[in-house]
Amino acid sequence: MAARKHIPNETKLRLFSEASGHCQRPQCLETLFPAELGGDKHIAEMAHVIPHGKDGPRHAERPDGEFEADTFENLILLCPTCHTIVDKDPGAHPRNTLLDWKANHISALARKIGIHAYEDRGQVRDAVVAAMEENKAVWRKFAPTEGSDFEYNPESEAAKTWTHRMRSVILPNHFRIQDIILANLHHATGEEREAFGQYQEHVRGLSERHVCGVNGRAIRYPEKMDGIFA
Ligand SMILES: [Zn+2]
Ligand SMILES: [Zn+2]
Repeated sequence: MAARKHIPNETKLRLFSEASGHCQRPQCLETLFPAELGGDKHIAEMAHVIPHGKDGPRHAERPDGEFEADTFENLILLCPTCHTIVDKDPGAHPRNTLLDWKANHISALARKIGIHAYEDRGQVRDAVVAAMEENKAVWRKFAPTEGSDFEYNPESEAAKTWTHRMRSVILPNHFRIQDIILANLHHATGEEREAFGQYQEHVRGLSERHVCGVNGRAIRYPEKMDGIFA
């Protein structure tokens, strides 16, 4: 999309450095500096999460009040193909999805290598169990218990630590677990597929809450996930 105003150079630099030179759509992650172009020309496009105007992709999700569309927070760096994909089907690519992609881009790049389709269930189990255990441990140590004071005080140190762990450890682990299971879904039983579907919805709710600040839509973690591929 053509920029109305000039997007400041600082904003562009920040976008490019955060994207580490790769398309930020996790299913793509293509290099934005293709070898065919000699390596120093890029194909990156700055896509607006929320558009400038009253129409355009995702305009219905524009927050109330003052909103500046050309900020770092509202831009995502994509290859031309992915820019078309997210703008042609905004229903499948809502604001929180695009913000998730940005928030988890580095971990997505890191795990691009290392996700395998395995020969047997035991190997899938081994691949997911460490991340599951880490999430449980972090959860036990930092999650708010019902009625604890930081439920009422989002400014407390405990609340800040929890939010930080959620974004830096728990959500990236969840995305990794999802990727491993998706690559190995052919090993899953019907019951496991169902648990996995609920689990994906649980994670969607978590990222809406902790990345977008949308409250109250997360469903509970399905207990059956604990035994998946066991
Ligand atoms: Zn656009
Ligand atoms: Zn792409």
